[in-house]
Amino acid sequence: MPEEYENKGAGRPLVELTHVEKHYGDLHVLKDINLQVSKGEVVVVVGPSGSGKSTMCRTINRLETIDSGDIRIDGKPLPQEGKALAELRAEVGMVFQSFNLFANKTILENVTLAPIKVRHMDKKKAEDLAMELLARVGVDSQAQKMPAQLSGGQQQRVAIARALAMQPKVMLFDEPTSALDPEMVNEVLDVMTELAHEGMTMICVTHEMGFARRVADRIVFMADGHILEQATPAQFFEHPQTDRARDFLSKIL
Ligand code: ADP
Ligand code: MG
Repeated sequence: MPEEYENKGAGRPLVELTHVEKHYGDLHVLKDINLQVSKGEVVVVVGPSGSGKSTMCRTINRLETIDSGDIRIDGKPLPQEGKALAELRAEVGMVFQSFNLFANKTILENVTLAPIKVRHMDKKKAEDLAMELLARVGVDSQAQKMPAQLSGGQQQRVAIARALAMQPKVMLFDEPTSALDPEMVNEVLDVMTELAHEGMTMICVTHEMGFARRVADRIVFMADGHILEQATPAQFFEHPQTDRARDFLSKIL
């Protein structure tokens, strides 16, 4: 069992949001968000569309600024700009709904680019690491192809390998399977499940409730910019505490 896994839940939170508030103009999108994620923990964020799930994820690697409150990664406040911000983004891997691979670069180049540029890894070492990660997500045979030559499921697995190449402390997934054809959803969820079992700290926004039940240590339910519930999957799915959660579950289950 990897060491990180045994330490699950120990010590200070790896990701900590405290009293986070955010507006888009007049729209209050994040309302007093308090969330602590321990090392090795898998948190699945669910809730109706428009409830602020993506915005919350994007604040964690500072793709979005916040109005007030505090966000810390491994005890450190988020840097505002420059080299420190680039380093932070390297520590917080993110996989989006759309695959976001660089269309004019090969699969291998997609994975080696950031380690070479941001981590100053030498090319050979970056390529060895990339091939190892591509093998781990089952697409090493595609390394010399261009993104458009791969299926959506393969591209999303490359996106996961690309994020892992930066050796992140935490991985954020924002509906990584929503844009995929149904037959490709499981190949991506399987990679995520494996990562979770290896002890990766993960925050996943997803509508895949089977995954949430099986893999999450904790479910966070958001609605209207609030975190309304935080519970184990068993508690959340069997005994939701709020009308909003009961209503949400009645529509999706
Ligand atoms: P979710 O991911 O839960 O569906 P989002 O975080 O994407 O919710 O959006 C929360 C609310 O903020 C929605 O009402 C959405 O329309 C709005 N919103 C999201 N991004 C922006 C933006 N860049 N500018 C203005 N409004 C936005
Ligand atoms: Mg969203």
